[in-house]
Amino acid sequence: MGSQSTPAPTSQRVEYVKASIAMLEHTSRCRDPACPSDSCYKLSRVMVHNRGCRRRRIESCFVCQQLVTLCRFHAKECHKERCRVPYCQRIRRKLQERAMALLDEPSLLE
Ligand SMILES: [Zn+2]
Ligand SMILES: [Zn+2]
Ligand SMILES: [Zn+2]
Repeated sequence: MGSQSTPAPTSQRVEYVKASIAMLEHTSRCRDPACPSDSCYKLSRVMVHNRGCRRRRIESCFVCQQLVTLCRFHAKECHKERCRVPYCQRIRRKLQERAMALLDEPSLLE
């Protein structure tokens, strides 16, 4: 993934994020009302909350913010045409637009 200089996360954190993303992908596809996964249940509650969240700005809701952060991680790696993960397609479109904008930008600062 390019040469963006994000600080290297600790491997523990990476594992945690990976597990959370896997859970997000599972839950967004999971249609089993009796799914045995506890995390799936919790995450599906978060998604239900998100859909009905009354706060106008994501930034003002801690629950939604966490969900969107997770979706961002997922979207960076996702190439599915029809992805069920919330925000995925929207985030990817934004990332693409930004990449295009960066390409178009004349490099005046160099
Ligand atoms: Zn499930
Ligand atoms: Zn919310
Ligand atoms: Zn996706």
